[in-house]
Amino acid sequence: MSRSVLVTGGNRGIGLAIARELAAGGDAVAVTHRSGEPPEGLFGVKCDVTSMEDVDAAFAKVEAEQGPVEVVVANAGITKDTLLAIMSEESFTSVLDTNLTGAFRVAKRGVKGMMRKRKGRIILVSSVVGLLGSAGQANYAASKAGMVGFARSLARELGSRNITVNVVAPGFVDTDMTAALSEDQQKTIKSVIPLGRVAEPVEIAKTVRFLASDDAAYITGAVIPVDGGLGMGH
Ligand code: NDP
Repeated sequence: MSRSVLVTGGNRGIGLAIARELAAGGDAVAVTHRSGEPPEGLFGVKCDVTSMEDVDAAFAKVEAEQGPVEVVVANAGITKDTLLAIMSEESFTSVLDTNLTGAFRVAKRGVKGMMRKRKGRIILVSSVVGLLGSAGQANYAASKAGMVGFARSLARELGSRNITVNVVAPGFVDTDMTAALSEDQQKTIKSVIPLGRVAEPVEIAKTVRFLASDDAAYITGAVIPVDGGLGMGH
């Protein structure tokens, strides 16, 4: 049966791949976009996840278009990489505000309808970096590690309402975010990935699709790595 799904940051990269994958499975999928046009064939709502008003308005539009949201994917994220010694407080707090507090805003608004329905799926897109740490990414890693504690707390709070909350932790994925890396950096990264290559966005999307499916009904509070083996054991 078609479900109402909302994917944040679904206009490009991993979020778009997730949206397309879920839509291909028959769901009604809405995506948030901050600027420009939404991708063809998907219902787009303008939303900046750093604003609770935006998040609230986006959910209201999606609910009016396709019914109460049953699957929420908190995917929107940014990086502002630099070493701690020269990292501004703004670099730290803005990355936390988008990646972690953004997920809080979306989950908080999303569970309203799910609790009424006594059914729902929340999937947070974290990163292997949240588990391993990464020099030059203290802000980003902190935000992504925070998502794990956040998700596991929600899994405990919401389990009795038949709402599962899980985290996907991708490794390096071929998107605009990683295109910014130099060829040398990309070579070094590949050399430490057991599978010897970066992921395609659709490989993350397929894991999200599984977690959103009935087959994953008994999985909650899990952190699923999709990282070519990079974070093994963490
Ligand atoms: P991209 O940079 O390609 O896309 C980021 C998406 O997030 C865009 O849709 C962007 O919207 C949106 N976004 C950013 N800030 C906000 C905001 N304040 N409000 C609403 N939307 C926002 O990134 P990826 O697709 O690579 O990454 C997606 C997620 O996956 C992120 O959370 C990232 O941390 C995570 N991830 C990525 C990895 C990788 O290797 N690429 C590895 C591990 C995790 P807009 O187009 O308007 O800017």
